[in-house]
Amino acid sequence: MSSTQLWRVAADAPLPEALTYSSDLPLQRGQLVTVPLGRGGRKVHGLVLGPTAEVPEFEVKAVDSIVEEYTPLPEPYVKWLEWLAQYYLHPVGQVFQSAFPPLRKSEKQRQSKRPPVIPQLEADSALDLTPEQKSCFESIAQHSQFSTHLLFGVTGSGKTEVYLRLLDKVLAEGKRGVVLVPEISLTPQLIQRFARRFGDKIAALHSQLTDRERTNQWWDIVEGRKSILIGARSALFCPIDNLGLIIVDEEHEPSFKQDEKLKYNGRDAAVMLGKLMNCPVVLGSATPSLETWKNAIDGKYHLHRLTRRVANRALPDIEVIDLRRLKDDDEEKQKLITKYSHLPFWLSPTLYERMQEVLARGDQAALFLNRRGIAQMVVCPSCGHTRECPNCDISLTLHAHSHLICHYCDYHENFKTKCPDCHEGQLEAIGLGTELLETDLTRLFPGKTIARADRDEIQSRADLEDLIGKMETGEIDILVGTQMIAKGLDFPKLKLVGLVLADVGFNLPDFRATERSFQLITQMSGRSGRHVKEGESPGLVIIQTFNTEHDSITFAKAHDFEGFAAHELEIRSALNYPPMGRLVSFRIQGTKLGIVEETARLLARRAHALKAQFPQQYGAIEVLGPAEAALSKLRGQFRYHLLIKSTQPAAANPFSRQLLGDQEWVPSGVKILIDIDPMSLL
Ligand code: ADP
Ligand code: ZN
Repeated sequence: MSSTQLWRVAADAPLPEALTYSSDLPLQRGQLVTVPLGRGGRKVHGLVLGPTAEVPEFEVKAVDSIVEEYTPLPEPYVKWLEWLAQYYLHPVGQVFQSAFPPLRKSEKQRQSKRPPVIPQLEADSALDLTPEQKSCFESIAQHSQFSTHLLFGVTGSGKTEVYLRLLDKVLAEGKRGVVLVPEISLTPQLIQRFARRFGDKIAALHSQLTDRERTNQWWDIVEGRKSILIGARSALFCPIDNLGLIIVDEEHEPSFKQDEKLKYNGRDAAVMLGKLMNCPVVLGSATPSLETWKNAIDGKYHLHRLTRRVANRALPDIEVIDLRRLKDDDEEKQKLITKYSHLPFWLSPTLYERMQEVLARGDQAALFLNRRGIAQMVVCPSCGHTRECPNCDISLTLHAHSHLICHYCDYHENFKTKCPDCHEGQLEAIGLGTELLETDLTRLFPGKTIARADRDEIQSRADLEDLIGKMETGEIDILVGTQMIAKGLDFPKLKLVGLVLADVGFNLPDFRATERSFQLITQMSGRSGRHVKEGESPGLVIIQTFNTEHDSITFAKAHDFEGFAAHELEIRSALNYPPMGRLVSFRIQGTKLGIVEETARLLARRAHALKAQFPQQYGAIEVLGPAEAALSKLRGQFRYHLLIKSTQPAAANPFSRQLLGDQEWVPSGVKILIDIDPMSLL
């Protein structure tokens, strides 16, 4: 008979540490169990972390039962979950929740009307690699142990084909692979491409699946029926063993960072998983994040370049249009203005003419604007009153049918033109959004089919599939959309991409705004003219802006990522911003402004005191703030933040842990949320 032992169990509760339980069950590290929690003895899930000899001072409760459905998680996964908890300062018992499927395994498969998660398609064969692809493939394929590779390839250079070959090799060796892509580019197009090559070896995990579908895909991987897992960041949590390769496509994408609960970065977590699994990790991008780029030029990552598009297809020409008022003395321009006086304010004569040309040839145009709705704000010209969300410190956006909507909390109200403040003026709409573009285009291009792709219009996988189908068949002439259409899409007839107002991107109060803007312009341009043949004129990109000299524009126009990176790294270096320094953000929030403010000030004082107390360890730490967050009120919560910058990366984590260690002083009603390596500082 087995005897009673003490075990450390990470129970599903907001506790910083694992708890000690006793049990005479045959437990193992990585096993899911149920344990009683707290005075009431409520039963929760817990993950067994291992035996312990330490007898706690208080009464030890017994493990309730083993969750028989699951065998213990593979050891590297348990280590990885522990690392996530430790690095991102998140309760360990809440981290492992994501490692299990949402539903119980049911033996009976219910019939579903939904299309299969992985379509069954006719197989295609591998393409002959270009010399560049071949050399990248070969130098990555040499590695079978942990190593991190950056595949830096311009848009349309055939990165995906390199991934497919690498996966081929991994399968031939009897191992398995994981491919992470940003949720937004996990399109049917992409899944089809993998399904054509690898047929029924593929499983996928993403947010468009039902809980049943997720659960089934999870078991397909865990029970070894599938050997390639494609998914959004959370797919990493599916415990796939015998792993030979992890690929993170579009590694620069901010959406790899989860911005609630466990605030992990899927890309960084993938590199750590590769390390624990001892397999290579490939990060791919046309616009690598500066973090990854620095690791590559410092020699920590292997750098592989694809410098040109396949089949000598040209990169698109990028033309920049200055939206500032045209000078009166310029006769040519004056003629243009008169000729095009019927154009809406957001559409330059050049963009209009190019659209006409492209459409006349039977090709397609896409206009991009990262703003939904008709107008950003409504304002009273008499008294200056603007309609703001009562929950958030944000102006309401005007949408069709006279709806005013908050883009943060989804608060709705009807648009009444009479100013509710002064009762005299008539509220006017200011700004622009995708709905306005669509309306204006319908008037300007009668007879052309216009489609809009934004969160208001595309709400499901079916909607997106439908839209992509219509773009592929050429049923749509003009596509208008938000960043939903900027990524990964590949439409042969798309020859013109217009960025309606580039300034939307670079005016955000965030040190990464320029980098983001550069990435967006480049990715957006990457959609244009992807299939032009040798000798044909290349795709065209038109950028409209009030700031033609902005770094993100001048470097993107020259297709010069490396120049941009060198320039931007210099700026980051001067200010110790990542990737030179490490950043941690503490957000202090609550419903009472005064208490939030006071707590933020106290937290800052504690941070300074901690630094002064341990000058050896924490000399490299800089405490910034507290300050009101750029989004100073959101969903009824006032927000302050405090930033910790550290030129010594290793100091940031223990400092933050210590600063948050004892929270008894924090007044009730105020929460302090920590974000390690934050991606957004709003
Ligand atoms: P990226 O991911 O780098 O933007 P893709 O992998 O999507 O580029 O490739 C761009 C296009 O080139 C795709 O249509 C793809 O089928 C095609 N392609 C890729 N590699 C080759 C090759 N070796 N020969 C011919 N066509 C290729
Ligand atoms: Zn709101």
